Order: sequence, then C-alpha cells, then structure tokens
Amino acid sequence: MTEHPHPAVQDIAPTEGWVYPLNARKAHYFYNELVSLCRGWMMFSLGAAKPDTFESPDDCKTCRRKLTKIQEEAKDAVSASSE
Ligand SMILES: [Zn+2]
Repeated sequence: MTEHPHPAVQDIAPTEGWVYPLNARKAHYFYNELVSLCRGWMMFSLGAAKPDTFESPDDCKTCRRKLTKIQEEAKDAVSASSE
C-alpha cells in the first residue's frame, strides 16, 4: 500500500480559481462549477484558473466576498470535525 504524504494536494484540480472571462475587466472566482460566484459569468473551461494566492484590486468584489465566506465556512468545518 502506498501512502501519499499529502493526500489533499493530490485532489486539487482546476475546478476553482480566479479567471478573467473574455470581455471582463475583473477577475471572477469559479468554485466547483462553471458559473462564477457572483453568477454573472460562465466559463466552459477552468484550465486557466488562478488559485487564490493574493488579493488583487482586479478581483470582482462579489466573488471576493462570497469566496471569503466559503473559506470561513471551510475553516469552521475543519475545526468542528477535529473536536
Ligand atoms: Zn464575479
């Protein structure tokens, strides 16, 4: 049996990230679906999605707000399951 030292890393697929849709002035965040978090944009491929590594003034504010909420909920879930 082979154990991966970082199994979570193996699971990262380009199913979420910041994308500049064609004709968009802002980057929008896509989270496991092909519609942006602000529901304003659709992408057929997230291959060019960039991970959320820094805050940019080009980030769509609605997407940023919803992403922050998702991240906080994920944090809560992790701390709840470890207790
Ligand atoms: Zn957006």
